[in-house]
Amino acid sequence: MRIGFIGLGIMGKPMARNLLKAGYDHVVYDIVEANTNDVVADGAAAGSSPRNVAEQADVVITMLPNSPEVKQAVLGEGGVIEGVRPEAIVVDMSSIAPLAAQEVAAELLKKNVKMLDAPVSGGEPKAIDGTLAIMVGGPQDAFDAVKEILLKMGASAVRCGDIGAGNVTKLANQIIVALNIAAVSEAMVLATKADVDPENVFNAIKGGLAGSTVMNAKMPLILERNFKPGFRMELHIKDLQNALDTAHEIGVPVPLTGQVMEFMQALKVAGKQKDDHGGLVQFYEQLAGTEVRRKG
Ligand code: NAD
Repeated sequence: MRIGFIGLGIMGKPMARNLLKAGYDHVVYDIVEANTNDVVADGAAAGSSPRNVAEQADVVITMLPNSPEVKQAVLGEGGVIEGVRPEAIVVDMSSIAPLAAQEVAAELLKKNVKMLDAPVSGGEPKAIDGTLAIMVGGPQDAFDAVKEILLKMGASAVRCGDIGAGNVTKLANQIIVALNIAAVSEAMVLATKADVDPENVFNAIKGGLAGSTVMNAKMPLILERNFKPGFRMELHIKDLQNALDTAHEIGVPVPLTGQVMEFMQALKVAGKQKDDHGGLVQFYEQLAGTEVRRKG
């Protein structure tokens, strides 16, 4: 079984490395040559284009920023569709619009190639230790065929429905994460300005009902003023835009998502779009004129 991996950024690189560690034969490609070379140094073969990767692979995995990049890499000139083998399976693990996943899958199906949309949650740390949560849409037989591979990158892989269902699930995930970061930020700015050490607040409440994976992941970084990504705010803006578009297309108002989107837009105007999404706290800090940090 040979795997092709396209898109070796913050997430793709450690995911590809975990597949290498698991012993899969591997051909990789990123539009940025240095990223390809990093994974080639670990033992993968270098592909020269998405088409070239697809020509050599039984399973083609893509891990790209958004819908336009996935369409370009799969359907564009020199793309996967030009080289993919009929019996191969394409697994797009990027977070993209559900409609875009359905469009790409429909084009591949014309060549008898099955596709899964399989976005992930967990961020860089879980990509590194191979414990991502993977949410999948697409045909059951294709899911069964690649589940073992997915579980080399993730702690769980759950099929949520037909093609597009993976990304609908991811949009739900991203709404919950964004609103959770906003809630933690709002509460911690209040505690700080009330002169209570935010680290004590965190330690006191993390085991109670307010505790969350999001708070456990982001609070230590916020206390250290560490906003190095991780997950760039601009990517979360992309996900919230996809959530707003999808929700409005099917007639679902998402008022809180709209509000947090505007907080992130304000930080983007302030030049903070490359910060980790935990940097959302800075929006509340500006409103209140205080800074959440470790005391002493
Ligand atoms: P990234 O920007 O670090 O990586 C994307 C990679 O794709 C880059 O290396 C880029 O050079 C490459 N690329 C772009 N266009 C290409 C093309 N046409 N052909 C080949 N390579 C191309 O982004 P990331 O953080 O790794 O995120 C990837 C996806 O995973 C996004 O959809 C993101 O929303 C999602 N995601 C990210 C995180 C996270 O914490 N970073 C967590 C969960 C999901």
